Amino acid sequence: MSDKVKSIIDVQTIESDSQTDDRWSDFRQIERITIELSQRYKYSLGRYSRFFIELENHKFYATKCSKCNKVYAPPRPFSPDSMDITEWTELSGEGTVKTFSVLHFAPGTNDDVNALQTPYILAYVHLDGADTLFPHLLKASANDVHIGMRVKVAYADEPVSHPIHLMYFIPMEVS
Ligand SMILES: [Zn+2]
Repeated sequence: MSDKVKSIIDVQTIESDSQTDDRWSDFRQIERITIELSQRYKYSLGRYSRFFIELENHKFYATKCSKCNKVYAPPRPFSPDSMDITEWTELSGEGTVKTFSVLHFAPGTNDDVNALQTPYILAYVHLDGADTLFPHLLKASANDVHIGMRVKVAYADEPVSHPIHLMYFIPMEVS
């Protein structure tokens, strides 16, 4: 055990197989260290950017294909069916839960998720006027959530780590 390097948690020697000529004997002494890595990188939200900018304005935007009339929420820059570039369209932010999961473990993908109390609800919401499902956090009691529940978009005013957490769903029904 080293006491000169703080990150070393142990040194172990894996026994050689004495029956055979151990050609790996030089690799048998193993030192394990703990290293914390953090990485900062820039990622462009591209044509999705307006969706997040409008969340800061408490507006909920989807995209619409003028050729096949499909409305995408979450927005898609182009229509996967007709490959046309979509246009922005504002929705009310009200919708219906189509399915949901109650999560007892937070995957810890960012500080917003780490801050969530478990269990929390991931709901697939069919927003009024949209043709797709929007999977996101529903702040509701796990005892109250049900398929068909009417929900609406709520906006976070506190600072968030990732702009998708500028919004979440809440029940429209008062329980
Ligand atoms: Zn289309």
